[in-house]
Amino acid sequence: MAKKTVRDLKLKGKKVLVRVDFNVPIQNGNITDDNRIVQAIPTLKYILDQGGRAIVFSHLGRVKTEEDKASKSLKVVSERLEELLGKEVKFVPVTRGSELEVAISNLKDGEILMFENTRFEDLDGNKESKNNPELGKYWASLGDVFVNDAFGTAHRAHASNVGIASNIKDSVAGFLLEKEIKFIGGAVDNPKRPFVAILGGAKVSDKISVIENLLEKADKVIIGGGMAYTFLNAQGYDIGTSLFEADKVELAKNLLEKGKGKIILPVDFAFTDKFEDKAPTHVGPITDIKEGEMSLDIGPKTLELFAKEIKNAKTVVWNGPMGVFEMDNYRKGTIGVCEALANLKDAITIVGGGDSAAAAIQFGYEDKITHISTGGGASLEYLEGKVLPGVAALSDK
Ligand code: AMP
Repeated sequence: MAKKTVRDLKLKGKKVLVRVDFNVPIQNGNITDDNRIVQAIPTLKYILDQGGRAIVFSHLGRVKTEEDKASKSLKVVSERLEELLGKEVKFVPVTRGSELEVAISNLKDGEILMFENTRFEDLDGNKESKNNPELGKYWASLGDVFVNDAFGTAHRAHASNVGIASNIKDSVAGFLLEKEIKFIGGAVDNPKRPFVAILGGAKVSDKISVIENLLEKADKVIIGGGMAYTFLNAQGYDIGTSLFEADKVELAKNLLEKGKGKIILPVDFAFTDKFEDKAPTHVGPITDIKEGEMSLDIGPKTLELFAKEIKNAKTVVWNGPMGVFEMDNYRKGTIGVCEALANLKDAITIVGGGDSAAAAIQFGYEDKITHISTGGGASLEYLEGKVLPGVAALSDK
């Protein structure tokens, strides 16, 4: 990797600004999934073990009004972080000013504080989200070095990542960011072959650039999930009331032409007449679909076909579920793909963030997959081949 990492810095006695992505789901004041906090622990432990003074910050949700502040406070997150670290985390309930500055000057080597949601600054002219130059400069002035470990935000140029990095000499990647770049960047730029990409999820329109980029890079592109039906329609099939984007049919035709021999589509399906969690009425090829029916999952023959392709792979990248995995009766396809990835012995398997990452974790495959990304939008943009501004702004090796 061409960017400096936290290992390249001397941290003892330094005020270390650490941008993490603690944008975790919170319901009734309780964190329902702390994976992003857990994933940041190695970087934070390393900084503290080296004698750094960690100043940690993150965004949490969107802050549009004063009233949003109560439900978007990072206090509860700092408490969870304290539990996970087994160490006091001083929480500073502001994003700037003397209270924060005094707390930072009181920090000793190996101590950590966390300040309030960076998006509180959005109340005053979207300063954080619009990368206000004064704000980035101010935050940069609070530390000696900057460690960015927030992969989930790396596709955005905000004051708390790009703004700080542009105003501080040493801006480096934390271990999580390094891992994301190594696996996703490595797969896209320099994959071990055969390289199989698996794409699913609801819409073609969300993933056009990903499909286009991976059609160029991968040896095979498997398409499942809701987006498959626009492709099947483009091939002339009746797809009933399955998910469909009429304005993407021409694009699907072009992609099928361009990806001849490379694109693999499902061959059987789980049909139903209502978008409800009841057993499929029948399973079969698309030509079996009856009037008023839709398909909410791929069928067993498709799974066999996909598994055969996956079996040969040395690199697999997967983004997007194969069916409506939120319902018990339509998760077989998504679980089947998890299983096919888990069965690979000598391959790098990567699951892009968002729904497929949540599914792989929910179905118990976390330890059997090489890398599950913590970034939904960021991993998609990375797979599209885009430069992520949060990464580009870091110091080169
Ligand atoms: P995405 O965010 O684009 O990855 O899409 C994920 C969503 O696609 C999930 O909520 C799935 O329920 C949905 N999905 C996958 N397959 C289908 C399908 N056959 N019909 C309707 N929705 C689907």
